[in-house]
Amino acid sequence: MIIQLASNTEPDQRKIITERVAQLGYKVNEVKTQEATYLIGIGKKEFDIRLLGSLPGIADIHRVSDDYKLVSRKWKVDRSKVDLGDQVFIGEGSLAIMAGPCSIESEKQVDLTIAHLLENGVRIMRGGVFKPRSSPYAFRGLGIDGLKMWYTKARAAGIKIITEVMQVSQIAEMHDYIDVFQVGARNTQNFNLLDELGRVDKPVMIKRGISGTIEELLYSAEYVFAAGNEKIILCERGIRTYEKASRNTMDVNAIPILKEKSHLPVVADPSHGIGVRDFVEPVALAAVMAGADGIIYETHQKPDEALSDGQQTLDFHESKRLITRLNKAYELRESF
Ligand code: PEP
Ligand code: MN
Repeated sequence: MIIQLASNTEPDQRKIITERVAQLGYKVNEVKTQEATYLIGIGKKEFDIRLLGSLPGIADIHRVSDDYKLVSRKWKVDRSKVDLGDQVFIGEGSLAIMAGPCSIESEKQVDLTIAHLLENGVRIMRGGVFKPRSSPYAFRGLGIDGLKMWYTKARAAGIKIITEVMQVSQIAEMHDYIDVFQVGARNTQNFNLLDELGRVDKPVMIKRGISGTIEELLYSAEYVFAAGNEKIILCERGIRTYEKASRNTMDVNAIPILKEKSHLPVVADPSHGIGVRDFVEPVALAAVMAGADGIIYETHQKPDEALSDGQQTLDFHESKRLITRLNKAYELRESF
């Protein structure tokens, strides 16, 4: 069960509520986020909701049968929308397009990418400065100095930044230079990282694990919420299967399933999802039709010279075409 406390709940009222929930045989966890304080009751026993509903200090009470609670759609009528400021949102009501290189490589690349995004009305730029690479000898990113350079240019252009945080120690140094923390597929179940991201007041986009189930992704989001941060975005980025014709198998199925199970916005990453440049567009369009609230993809002025993931990266011409088609697909979907 989820009990949302009223904003003016007195400590003794809270104590009575907690005791009453415990008497029902439920274990109580208190969660305080930017939005509210919740008491999460974990248990299975049947109970009469009126026993609690009448207690002073409770704003709202919901039965949630799912094992994950706060990210479940069962208690929240309205879908969550993540506000990045300056009228940039991720969630219901618009299609969020996030584009940029796999890795931030140089000032020139950042300038060219920002110009491309501005020209095409894209407000959010992606790019990695801390890169998880399969080989330790591959390019591993420009690090915090690269982020600061990128941030200065992005801010001047009114562009928001989404970038991957790989470990707890990076959160504080990155915090003031990013708009969305990205948790990569290799870190979906890094519970220490998720806990710490729950303690900051910045949006967090969590990618599905390489071999992760939909439920595991929801539990990862639950960690961030339960630690205090409601600003969460889920991202389907393809999973590892036996198929070799594509880098990963983009699980378009996950999009409507996640939207049915959770109130959180759902974004799709077709670049990593299929991993083949020529097929990024059809998969991106399929994801929009399946209900995605946003698309994140890789673009570079010269994909063949990119320091990472060039094989799945669109050039600016292909990117422009994709943006036009994404917006058309979104309009069509919304007209149904
Ligand atoms: C990326 O976005 O560049 C990336 C490394 O993604 P993922 O964690 O999905 O592999
Ligand atoms: Mn990449």
